[in-house]
Amino acid sequence: MAYDDTNIFARILRGEIPANTIYEDDYALAFHDINPQAPVHVLVIPKGPYQSMEDFTQSAPADLIAGFFRAVGHVARSLDLAESGYRILANHGPNSHQEVPHLHIHIFGGRPLGPMLV
Ligand code: 5GP
Repeated sequence: MAYDDTNIFARILRGEIPANTIYEDDYALAFHDINPQAPVHVLVIPKGPYQSMEDFTQSAPADLIAGFFRAVGHVARSLDLAESGYRILANHGPNSHQEVPHLHIHIFGGRPLGPMLV
């Protein structure tokens, strides 16, 4: 499916909608989720028109892929959650409840997270 550049994260990237940004570089933007599911709930998105992990990893340039994942690690470290533990997750498609069709990595932490639910 073609990338829909009217999605909310595309609009955040273009600066049309505000976000509570905690990190930005040439490859990625990280901001707090508007409806947090844990005391820490941060989203990290790549700077580019990618809907999912599949198209991002198959069609983005290598420097963007590397820079994006480096940014995810950097943001996770900056949240200081290593000792208490955290979870990284990306949904794909409506059946996984992906609401926003722009690739985003969730980082959850700040409380015991319990077993993974599928
Ligand atoms: P998904 O279900 O697509 O994996 O996750 C989308 C996430 O984006 C949800 O956790 C939702 O709360 C968050 N979200 C939706 N709209 C906005 C917004 O305008 N700003 C921010 N910061 N988060 C949003």
